[in-house]
Amino acid sequence: MCCSHSFENEHQPGTVPEVFDISAVKGMKFFDPHVHMTSRTTDDYQAMADAGVVALIEPAFWLGQPRTGLDSFRDYYSSLVGWERFRSSQFGIKHYCTIGLNSREANNEALAEQVMELLPLFIYKEGVVGIGEIGFDDQTAAEDKYYRLQLDLAREAALPVQVHTPHRDKKRGTQRSMDIAIEHGLAPYSVIIDHNNEETVKEVLDRGFWAAFTIYPFTKMGNQRMVEIVKQYGSERIMINSAADWGISDPLAVPKTAALMQQQGISAQDIELVTYRNAITAFAQSGQIDETEFTSTIDQSSKFAGNSILRGGQQPRIDKSSIIIS
Ligand SMILES: [Zn+2]
Repeated sequence: MCCSHSFENEHQPGTVPEVFDISAVKGMKFFDPHVHMTSRTTDDYQAMADAGVVALIEPAFWLGQPRTGLDSFRDYYSSLVGWERFRSSQFGIKHYCTIGLNSREANNEALAEQVMELLPLFIYKEGVVGIGEIGFDDQTAAEDKYYRLQLDLAREAALPVQVHTPHRDKKRGTQRSMDIAIEHGLAPYSVIIDHNNEETVKEVLDRGFWAAFTIYPFTKMGNQRMVEIVKQYGSERIMINSAADWGISDPLAVPKTAALMQQQGISAQDIELVTYRNAITAFAQSGQIDETEFTSTIDQSSKFAGNSILRGGQQPRIDKSSIIIS
């Protein structure tokens, strides 16, 4: 997972990092355009809602271990457009997803062939705002093949593309991802290049693509580095996300980065663009995002296909700060 580039330490040695004070972002709202909620708990949903996350995008990705058959993909995609969206709604967060065959799983060609036939059954469903996350991992021939096929699918369906760029050999992998997208007739404005860093951002913006940054501990970007990038490049076509998943990650990465940006003099307008508005503008090209749907009333006793998030006769939880759990 580790990037090959070494960057300066984010904190001065010996200093204790400040605690995130949620009141710093009070009244702000956030859109996290890359977060794998299937891997997260209801506490994470609650914390995100409390910190102002009103909507999110869950890209399809891999489980952390190989899938053994097509039905595993079918159930996973079904949960992204079904149960997980419902679970999110129970915390007042509007859930969207992108559907795709990710780069790692493209390397199982026998299965990948079958998944390509499955994808058209899901990409036109309500709340699917793009094809993703697709692209390169090891930059193999199979990854190249299925990336290209899915770009064609995105073009036919007129959907934005969410591109995962590799951890290893990132600069070359990023350039290659953009070259191929253009070769397949996609407008750069419909392609969100994800997991950028200081090495890739300039070219991505210069070529007219969206530049997404993942604030992820240890491996991708830290948020102090992100503040410097916005100071240098501004806010046009830049967005940040948490990419929180089953690994050590932070579902509050977007609100925390907004707080840090505010502290370090980034304008309210720029913060709003990189933590909320730009993601909406980019993914609304799918025709699937209606901002008026973000503020929904929560009823934790409502049901999805007969099931609610309340187990065994639980009552909807109201006061999470109470020491008593009843
Ligand atoms: Zn991801």
